[in-house]
Amino acid sequence: QKELPDSSGHKFGPESTQRKNMIEQVDRTVGYLRQRIRESGLEPNLNLIVTSDHGMETVIKTNEIHIGAITNFTFKDLDFELLDYGPNGLMVPKEGKMEHVYSILKNAHPNLHVYKKEEFPKRFHYANHSRITPLLLYGDPGYVQFNKGEHGFDNNATNMKTIFRAVGPAFKQGLVVEPFESVNVYALLCELLGITPEPHDGSLEVTKPMLRDPTDPPAPTAPIKTTEPIKTTEPIKTTELIETTTSGGNGEHRDSWGAAGMAAGTGRER
Ligand SMILES: [Zn+2]
Repeated sequence: QKELPDSSGHKFGPESTQRKNMIEQVDRTVGYLRQRIRESGLEPNLNLIVTSDHGMETVIKTNEIHIGAITNFTFKDLDFELLDYGPNGLMVPKEGKMEHVYSILKNAHPNLHVYKKEEFPKRFHYANHSRITPLLLYGDPGYVQFNKGEHGFDNNATNMKTIFRAVGPAFKQGLVVEPFESVNVYALLCELLGITPEPHDGSLEVTKPMLRDPTDPPAPTAPIKTTEPIKTTEPIKTTELIETTTSGGNGEHRDSWGAAGMAAGTGRER
């Protein structure tokens, strides 16, 4: 079972025609869903959220990182390595070889970042686990071995971020919020469903400003005009993604959504 548009993004790259066609297809499907919700009279009762778990980066095919070609490096110094799964690499050097392998790889390529487990940046929330190996590697956005598109890069990178749209009786209308982390979506879903969340790393406080005060009168039918939802140093790419995802086949416009924002996720699956 293919997961789309993820697989077309991997195979052809995020900027490809194939990927854009697939985004349009997903957009038409969302438009159809909203149309049927409207026609079925469910709009006053149903909350709809459209988001995803990560963005997609075009893979760079020049100045590639070839671990095996690095001077003085040999796989014979390792007990274990996992280097072909996205932008992250895991290594277990043989007994007594840790400092040797680390010093060889550390400055081998300007876009390759090499860390001992205890020095891995805390903001990734990644290395503090018994299954994570003593030596860790990651590539800058675009630097990876396979595919034409990839995710799993630094979640601070704009192209790793995804969209967030919500509409329904629980949400304010015409609201644009600041970017927030996807880890907070779980608490929002639990709140909407009226269930108590299990222990987790997110907070409802982050998404609470999107929610309508239930004692307020129902929202007006005419959508409130909003400003551009995303401010970014790369407006073309991001705006394109937002536009094609929310305006399409059924004449949808972002103004017809309740709350809009950008969520940060990097994604571990492939
Ligand atoms: Zn994927």
